[in-house]
Amino acid sequence: MHLPNYVCDRWFECEGEGIALLDPVSGEALVRVGSDGVDCAQALAHARLTGGESLRAASHADRASMLAAIADVLAQNRADYFDISRRNAGATEADAGFDVDGAIFTLKSYARLGKALGQTRGLVEGAVVPLSKEGNFVGRHFLVPQKGVAIFINAFNFPAWGLWEKAAPALLAGMPVLVKPATPTAWLAQRMVADVIAAGILPPGALSIVCGAARDLLTHVREGDVVSFTGSADTARRIRSHPGIVEHAVRVNVEADSVNAAVLGPDALPDSVEFELAVKEIVREMTIKSGQKCTAIRRVFAPMAQARALADAVATRLARVVVGDPAVDGVRMGPLVSRAQQQAAIAGIAELRSECELAFGGGEGFAPVGADAAVSAFVQPTLLFCSDGERAETVHRVEVFGPAATVIPYADERALARMMRRGEGSLVASVYSSDGVFTDRLVSAVGDLHGRLMLVDATVGNAHTGHGNVMPGCLHGGPGRAGGGEELGGLRALGLYLRRHVVQGSPERIASLAAGCADAALMWA
Ligand code: NAP
Repeated sequence: MHLPNYVCDRWFECEGEGIALLDPVSGEALVRVGSDGVDCAQALAHARLTGGESLRAASHADRASMLAAIADVLAQNRADYFDISRRNAGATEADAGFDVDGAIFTLKSYARLGKALGQTRGLVEGAVVPLSKEGNFVGRHFLVPQKGVAIFINAFNFPAWGLWEKAAPALLAGMPVLVKPATPTAWLAQRMVADVIAAGILPPGALSIVCGAARDLLTHVREGDVVSFTGSADTARRIRSHPGIVEHAVRVNVEADSVNAAVLGPDALPDSVEFELAVKEIVREMTIKSGQKCTAIRRVFAPMAQARALADAVATRLARVVVGDPAVDGVRMGPLVSRAQQQAAIAGIAELRSECELAFGGGEGFAPVGADAAVSAFVQPTLLFCSDGERAETVHRVEVFGPAATVIPYADERALARMMRRGEGSLVASVYSSDGVFTDRLVSAVGDLHGRLMLVDATVGNAHTGHGNVMPGCLHGGPGRAGGGEELGGLRALGLYLRRHVVQGSPERIASLAAGCADAALMWA
């Protein structure tokens, strides 16, 4: 079966054979996708003109209602999405929930936030700026939706959430969306778009999808378009420097890879609540979605005296994780999404092992439950131990996009901060400590290089939302290597799709323009 693309408000099957999407457990071909023959220039032109105009004519509250209706449609088809996730990505129930339910939750959150903006269409920012002595000439800043297309080039690991966490703020801001999901797992995104289109929720031109490579897409970008990319740092570099992007000064947001850290505080001894919370979270982060999360813990920093005990405790828990076909009862961790990802993860682990010793896993003698290792894409959860993190190089550089992490002892706070900073910018770090002085100093030493910091102590307990869990109300994105992008954070996310301009004129003209606009201060409320 070929999955068609949806552009210019019609379904369009690719020319030629397309690419087969595979089941990572059995290796079976499931469906085919492709973008050959899709006219990307026309697709973008149609979205700009038709979709953009209708969305901008709708109020924020109307757009918010569209998001709520999309969430309802996705919720109705949830069981089918879980099935596709299992077959095309090897997702367990928990993995599929992370992606699919995360998408629905994010859409609902933006529907609620958008409703609060009421029957307004734009945003007015800050006070009137007096520009003449008599007060008869003033200025005012406005945030208006860009009259282009929000183009999403997404990674393979979140086909559902990755689409809707971007689409929710873009549509709410008044921009039409064209998504190019990553090819290996495009089925789920394509099916969700098909369901939303069939439900007739969005105006014509507001939502398009192109599956397959679509490598000419960026050749057709124009001023006013926004490109939001999620994926590897290598591809990000290519996108940023693409001549189409450069020539038209197209705004680009990048969410790239990172070597996120978890930190055990010096006070967190093996019998403490914080130690236990750290162990639980490290194991969860290594195994949920088989470690294929951009936010997953890759480096675990622990005080020298506690590092071995922490590694032993994590290894003991990892030994209990049943890895295999997600369709088999009792399986807690599935495969990676493809043999290519499996090979990349195995190569990454081998690179790390040149500087680390093995604390658990490594793959020797590993046999997934209910699957043939010769055709499937499993990687055994693997914990490494790097006794000299200050000298080591790979552990601060190599992101194994799979179920692997490394424990690194630190001698003191300065050494810890030095090593954390060698990640060169991360999406998130979590700290497990009840020593407020330690955590305050650490936040000040490394906070500038992290998009999000999660501080966990006994008072927080299990109430925390998770190291790797991205909440719609909080910022997602990190500096430096993590791409330098910003997503979510409540209504802050609309900023990517809005353009600020200042209008100068008589107070009457400015007041007239500001009528019907929401206060931009709500974006930071
Ligand atoms: P990738 O290989 O960089 O691909 C990402 C997307 O870019 C895919 O849709 C891919 O299309 C497309 N692409 C590849 N080359 C391109 C080019 N020359 N021009 C235009 N588009 C191009 O990344 P991935 O392997 O899918 O994802 C894994 C990486 O993403 C990891 O490093 C992970 O850390 C990162 N990630 C980051 C976040 C975050 O929020 N920060 C979230 C998830 C993942 P095809 O699939 O068709 O090749």
